[in-house]
Amino acid sequence: MTAVLPALPLSPSRDFERYWKPDGSAQDRAPKWAKYRTDMVSEFPSPYRGQRDTLALQIGKFVEKLDGLRSEKGGPAFLGGNGALTYEYPEVKNVAISQEMGDLDQVLNEVVNLFSGAPNWGNPLTMCNVSPQGNTAAIIASMLSQVFAPNLLDGEYSWNVHRAELESAGMLGNLMGWDPLNTGAIYTYGGGGCFTYGVKYGLTRVLPNSRYQGVRTDAKIICSQQAHYAQQNATDWTGLGMDNIIQVRTDVATNQMDLIHLEEILQDLASRNIPVATVICTMGTTDANAFDPIGKVRELLDRFPNPTGFGKAILYADAVVGWSWIYFKDYDFGLNPLGFSKRILPILRKNGQALEELRHADAVGIDFHKVGWAPYVSSCFLYRNAAEFEALHRRGSDSYLQVRTPYNPMYYTLEVSRTASGAMAGWATLKYFGKEGMQAILGGILESKFYLYDLLMDQPDMVCVNPEDSGLVTLFRVYPEGIPAQEQFEKELTQPGHRDDLLKHNRLTEAVGNRLYEWFRQGKLLEGKPTPYLGISTGFRPASYNRDGTDSEAVVFALKSYPMNVAITPEIMQWVLHCVRAACEEVMATGFDAEPRAAASAEIL
Ligand SMILES: *Cc1c(COP(=O)(O)O)cnc(C)c1O
Repeated sequence: MTAVLPALPLSPSRDFERYWKPDGSAQDRAPKWAKYRTDMVSEFPSPYRGQRDTLALQIGKFVEKLDGLRSEKGGPAFLGGNGALTYEYPEVKNVAISQEMGDLDQVLNEVVNLFSGAPNWGNPLTMCNVSPQGNTAAIIASMLSQVFAPNLLDGEYSWNVHRAELESAGMLGNLMGWDPLNTGAIYTYGGGGCFTYGVKYGLTRVLPNSRYQGVRTDAKIICSQQAHYAQQNATDWTGLGMDNIIQVRTDVATNQMDLIHLEEILQDLASRNIPVATVICTMGTTDANAFDPIGKVRELLDRFPNPTGFGKAILYADAVVGWSWIYFKDYDFGLNPLGFSKRILPILRKNGQALEELRHADAVGIDFHKVGWAPYVSSCFLYRNAAEFEALHRRGSDSYLQVRTPYNPMYYTLEVSRTASGAMAGWATLKYFGKEGMQAILGGILESKFYLYDLLMDQPDMVCVNPEDSGLVTLFRVYPEGIPAQEQFEKELTQPGHRDDLLKHNRLTEAVGNRLYEWFRQGKLLEGKPTPYLGISTGFRPASYNRDGTDSEAVVFALKSYPMNVAITPEIMQWVLHCVRAACEEVMATGFDAEPRAAASAEIL
């Protein structure tokens, strides 16, 4: 039987029908809002196939314009023709929304302009930090996820896109040597976010009442002196408090967590009935690439369980920067199928073995936007026991959002709505690189780092100051002409009698680094070519007579090369040293700041 709908009462809303032409656009006499809407409809992405699609057209046009910001081959390491900052602070904030609706092309042109002067991570002259150019698969995957905006909060709003997160869990779980079916993955806001998840996991497990009654026990977070300062964000924002961090001493030679000191700390806490929430092993520090002995830390933790009434402490591995060395845990070093040089094979093996121990962790932080060549922000918090983690952090019941699929992380994630762009970037990277692609890119960068090291060994006025490090970073100092760098540095590092020299040459190093930065920003040409974009480390280690760091000035400054870039060639590395020498000569000629200055404590990334 067909139901007859009662006629609607005539009301002002009937006008609404009269605003539109048959094609859906506004009539001439329609109000202004309807005309705006007509413009928008043609400029929003088309809902259907086969129509003139503004989105595809505009993306093509504006990606091309964006690409136009890259320099010609051999050009400077920033985008656009000008490296200057285009605003004054805080005056830049003196701006209001315009009255009229904007013009799409004009807004997008302004978007492109915002990139002017930004670092071009893809330029081979860029080697300032662990910031890679994203790989094409990851950039596109991440961009595409914006078009249809799947929401990873639950399955209903992301549907099959959720495979990116679930299969990341599987692929990475397998890589760790865990059971892939019980591995969980949550893509979140950076390595700092992963760290926060690691701390929270510990609080939830160790202090069972804390989820409802708050953190009322001063449970401890234990990490090494070299651990990342994200320890502060995580303890502060979870409400545990930064005073509950205990730092374990590190070995001067290896930068690793000192197990004897850790044991003392655990013993002391146990004797006072104080629980440990999370122990953090840094599996690759940002610059020195030091790995904590996580297998041994696990043994110690098992020997010192928390007092009764408290859950078992979480072992979190902050591997956000070092994780990809795990790709070498089962490389065939005898056969060496990728043909790496003899000199890097032992380092690849050592790094692979250190990371093989990640299997002991309860959870691991992984940044694809660092040594994973993916765009921001694509950090993955990976946990070994998904059933436990997800039950422990469970909020609410199924009834407050209908459950349409088996996987609905909103019940236990920190975020509510969650973009798919990070998961897409990470997943596409895993799929695209495979094992050998990742090994090739990582090993290849280690080869270029050692090429730079060899070059440095040939320069009498320069010295590499981190020759033992197994990571991608080269730290080096340049000295005035005529000073034998190696010998001089040896004295500055070890002899209190050379403290003044150490400080003076720290200032020289900083001045050279700053001069190089100015040159990079100005787009200065030396012999017709642009100069490199390097980093500066203000105090990556104390002098050896200042092990505990009590003398804040007796630390080693260095220029930093972090070559994350796959376009780097031998010529580029030679050019870098040429420019460093030129900058040193100029600084010596013009003089440099003679005031001593304390070391900056935190690096940015
Ligand atoms: C970079 C870094 C972090 C912070 O990660 P983000 O992705 O920048 O939030 C934490 N720990 C280590 C060891 C890092 O290198």
